[in-house]
Amino acid sequence: MAETKTIAPAQSVPAKHENPRRITAHNFQLAADRLGLDAEMRMLLSTPFREMRVEVPVRLDDGSLKVFLGYRVQHSGVRGPAKGGIRFHPSVEVDEVRALAEAMTWKTAIVNIPFGGAKGGIACDVHTMSQRELERLTRRFTSRIQAILGPYRDIPAPDMNTNAQIMAWIFDEYSSHHGYTPACVTGKPVELGGSKGREAATGNGVTFLIKKLMEELGKPLKGVSVVLQGFGNVGTFAARGLDREGAKLRAIGDYYGGIYSPNGINLSDLFAHQKSTGKIQGFPGTQPISNDDLLELECDVLVPGALECVIHRGNAERIKAKVIAEAANLPTTPEADEILNKKGVIILPDVLANAGGVTVSYFEWVQNLQQLFWEEDHVNAEMEKILGKAYRNVIDRAQSEKIPLREAAYTIAVERVAKAEKLRGT
Ligand code: NAD
Repeated sequence: MAETKTIAPAQSVPAKHENPRRITAHNFQLAADRLGLDAEMRMLLSTPFREMRVEVPVRLDDGSLKVFLGYRVQHSGVRGPAKGGIRFHPSVEVDEVRALAEAMTWKTAIVNIPFGGAKGGIACDVHTMSQRELERLTRRFTSRIQAILGPYRDIPAPDMNTNAQIMAWIFDEYSSHHGYTPACVTGKPVELGGSKGREAATGNGVTFLIKKLMEELGKPLKGVSVVLQGFGNVGTFAARGLDREGAKLRAIGDYYGGIYSPNGINLSDLFAHQKSTGKIQGFPGTQPISNDDLLELECDVLVPGALECVIHRGNAERIKAKVIAEAANLPTTPEADEILNKKGVIILPDVLANAGGVTVSYFEWVQNLQQLFWEEDHVNAEMEKILGKAYRNVIDRAQSEKIPLREAAYTIAVERVAKAEKLRGT
C-alpha cells in the first residue's frame, strides 16, 4: 500500500516537567496583547470547545484485557470543522493533546484553510503491540469518539506513530456507524480516497519553506548544512526534499540516537543501510552522536522533527544553528524562544513550517467531498501556493511590526479566529 509508512520507534518522552500547554498559552498571550483583545475574547479563544476522554478496552493477543486511555480535544470549530492528527504514544495525556489541538487552530488559520483545530491520542506503546492489537485499539477508540467526528464536525489525520493503515481503520469504523464517509479522516491510503502527495506533504512543505527563507536570507539551499532530529514521516520526507535541493545533511537522529558526518550524509546510501539493518545507526562513514549533542551542532539549519519541548532553557544558549525550522509541533519552550531571539536565531515556527500536512489534508477532504481526484503535481503546486502566501504574510507582518516570525504567525492566526468568532456572534 503506497501511503502506509513504517511505524518508526518513538518511545522517548519529553522532559516531564515541561507542559507543552505553556507554549501555546504564552504564544497566544503575546498575540492577544498585540491585538488588544478583551478578556472575554481571550477566554473564548483559549478555552477548548469540546474535550472527550474515553477508556479503550482491548483484548490483547494473549487473551488478557487492557484498558487504554484515549482523548479527542476540539479546540475550535469557529472557522470550519475541527482538524488535527491522532497520536499513539506512551506520553499522551490531556494537556499535551490540548496544546496540540490549540496549535492546530492557529495553524489552519495561518494557512487560511476552512478548518478549526483538534488533536487526539491514545496513551499506548505501539512497539509492544501486534498489528491485530493496533487494529482493535483503533477501531474501539473510533467507535467511542465517532459521535463527535464527521466531515463537517471533526476530521482526524495521522501524527506520531499513526499512519495511512490506521486512518483506513478509522475510515472503515466510522463508515460502519454512519455509512460510506471517506471525508471523515485524511491521510488515508490512496486506494481508499487518500490524496496523492499527502504522505510527503509535511516534509515537502518544510523543505519549500526553508528554501524560501534561505533565499530571503541570501543563502540558496545548495550547500546549506542541516541537522535533523526525527526520521519518521516528516523527517524522512524533509530529508529527501532538502537533499534534492542540494543541502548538506550533517546529522540525523531518531529515538535510538544520532549519526554525524561533518562532510555530509549520503541519503540514498543511508536509506539502503536502514533497509538492510533496520536502523540508521552504524551507517558507514558517520560517527554516533547523542540526541542532546545533535541539537547543539554547528549548522545553518536545525530541523527538530520529532518531539515537543526539546529546545528549552537548558540547551538554548548552546544551540549554534542560524535558522531553526520547526517540523515538529511545539519543540521550543517560551524561555528558549527568548534566548534564541536574543541570539538572533531565526525560527520558522511550527504553525507555519509543518502546515504542508494539514494543507494537503484539506485537499484530500475537498477531493472526497467532490468525489474526484487530483494529480500529484497539482496537489504540490496548490500546496506551494497556499504555503507561499502564508509565508509572505508572516514575513511581512514580522517586518512591519519588528517582531519574530512566531509572534507574527500567532498574531495573524489569532486575529483571523477572533474576527470569525465575532462575526458568528458568540
Ligand atoms: P513519526 O512517528 O513518523 O516519526 C517520529 C520520529 O521521531 C521517529 O523517527 C522517532 O524515532 C523519532 N524520535 C522519537 N523520539 C525521539 C527522540 N527522543 N529523539 C530523536 N528522535 C526521536 O512521526 P511524524 O508523523 O514524523 O511526526 C513528527 C512530528 O511532526 C510530531 O511533532 C508531529 O506532531 C509533527 N507533525 C506531523 C505531521 C504529519 O503529517 N505526520 C504534520 C505536522 C506535524
